[in-house]
Amino acid sequence: MSFSMHGIGVSGGIAIGYAHLTSNARIEVPQYMLDRKHIKEELARFDEAILATRAELETLRHHIPANAPAELSAFLDMHLMFLGDSMIAEAPKRLIRETQCNAEWALAQQMEALVARFEEIDDPYLRSRQEDVVQVVQRVLKALTGPPSHLPLDVDFGVERILVAHELSPADMVLFKNAHFAAFITDLGGATSHTAILARSMGMPSVMALHNARGLIRDHDLLIVDGRDGVVVVNPDESVLAEYRLRQNQWRIDTDKLKRLKTSKSATLDGTPIELMANIELLSDVNAVKASGAHGIGLFRSEFLFLNRSDLPSEDEQYESYKAVAEALDGKPVTIRTLDLGADKQAPWGHTVADNPALGLRAIRLCLAEPGLFQTQLRAILRASVHGQVRILIPMLVSFMELRQTLQRIDEARDSLRRDGLKFDDGIPVGGMIEVPAAALSAGFFAEQLDFLSIGTNDLIQYTLAIDRADDSVAHLYDPLHPAVLKLIQYTLRAGAKAGKPVSVCGEMAGDPLLTRLLLGLGLRTFSMQPASLLQVKQQVLKSHLEELTPMAQRMLKNTDPDRTALLLNRLNG
Ligand code: PEP
Ligand code: MG
Repeated sequence: MSFSMHGIGVSGGIAIGYAHLTSNARIEVPQYMLDRKHIKEELARFDEAILATRAELETLRHHIPANAPAELSAFLDMHLMFLGDSMIAEAPKRLIRETQCNAEWALAQQMEALVARFEEIDDPYLRSRQEDVVQVVQRVLKALTGPPSHLPLDVDFGVERILVAHELSPADMVLFKNAHFAAFITDLGGATSHTAILARSMGMPSVMALHNARGLIRDHDLLIVDGRDGVVVVNPDESVLAEYRLRQNQWRIDTDKLKRLKTSKSATLDGTPIELMANIELLSDVNAVKASGAHGIGLFRSEFLFLNRSDLPSEDEQYESYKAVAEALDGKPVTIRTLDLGADKQAPWGHTVADNPALGLRAIRLCLAEPGLFQTQLRAILRASVHGQVRILIPMLVSFMELRQTLQRIDEARDSLRRDGLKFDDGIPVGGMIEVPAAALSAGFFAEQLDFLSIGTNDLIQYTLAIDRADDSVAHLYDPLHPAVLKLIQYTLRAGAKAGKPVSVCGEMAGDPLLTRLLLGLGLRTFSMQPASLLQVKQQVLKSHLEELTPMAQRMLKNTDPDRTALLLNRLNG
């Protein structure tokens, strides 16, 4: 049966391919076939994971704090009991043997079967015990998926495959980066979540917030994913398929045409130079940066070096990565943002997830609370600074005390490198991200103390409008054009200009060609974005006349009539 679904298009382009469903488990579970000769190893791997999980639960059981509620011990006993039950410890092994599937998949299938049985129980208390089954299985899955090398991420399926998931975390996306998927679609997620940002950086058409794709689509269904309009067509008929193939071709032709702009000078019609920089997450993104003709890297999200691993990257390992990026950029600026973990980017080690992680120990707050972790990273960045034009960027600054402490930590890292006789660029520029309304309203102070500012509009919008950027149920309220957001951007740009310090925008607004002229009109001269968007933004810059844009942008900033917003933006984009 053919039907279509609508969600949020988070990354443009059209993909046509066959559905590849991932498990319903909250940890995304890979599925692959094993060679007969590897079955024994897989069974041993499964047994080891069960043993490791048992050891973990027993350790927890022995370290229950004296003031913990009495139920905690009973709860852990119950989890140990479930873990020992043959339904969890043995049944998946039968599946591995019979179907030659991998251990994670077998366990996830067994979990789903058990959950379905619990669903049939009338007694609400007993029915709710399915949660415990899920939690125990999640623990075993974590033990199994620990080292990412177990995942079949370099499998070439031979045909175009589209990943269909209930939810994907940014860490999952990094793992899927090398898999040969043509597109991905999810039930949950928002357009500026880090998962969506990664999809754009991979240039992969993607649609999120489809709500029930995982339930309605079956493995191997033929799908069309239109990442621009947020549409997914399931099992299309011949005429729809032909129409989308045409659109897909047109998209490719347009993208190819844009490539001609790579070497043209980035300036407005009146000759004002506009700097177009790139955002990256991993060293491997550098090729896309070069292909885009970017002036440098305006945001290197260094926290991606810390995901999908149970240990921390050492100073040397970090140094090698930063150095490689600095060298690859060949003297162009490389802005390394210090660790921004927390909220939707959780590392498997360290802190427990708070009730409200976006407002918790995130970004610079986490780094200041973990001086050892921060020093290691600062030393690595400083050491890399001799290999290019490296700059340090501090995420989510809010208070003046935080800034003072951060600058002290950077001085301490400098001192320790001097003591060790290691070289670094003593004049390395240090900048701060303006991502919280309090920081925007104090931009004058931050601009005076720092060498540059960068506005993180993804978080600035989230914190100004009180909208969780990863929550699709409030995605319709996430509004970059809200006058409060535009005022904070303009206020920050003006504060930077007054202090004589450059200000860029590195949130997703900078990469949206529909907003380029608005940002130019507000006074922005440096944009940093996913390399995939850079030439589209350049195209807008090249046809802009600043004198015309400035008064039009002011009109948008003062507009309080929601019906006029689209009209004003259309006029601006002329
Ligand atoms: C932002 O918040 O706009 C930003 C660039 O940082 P991130 O998206 O990594 O939170
Ligand atoms: Mg941010």
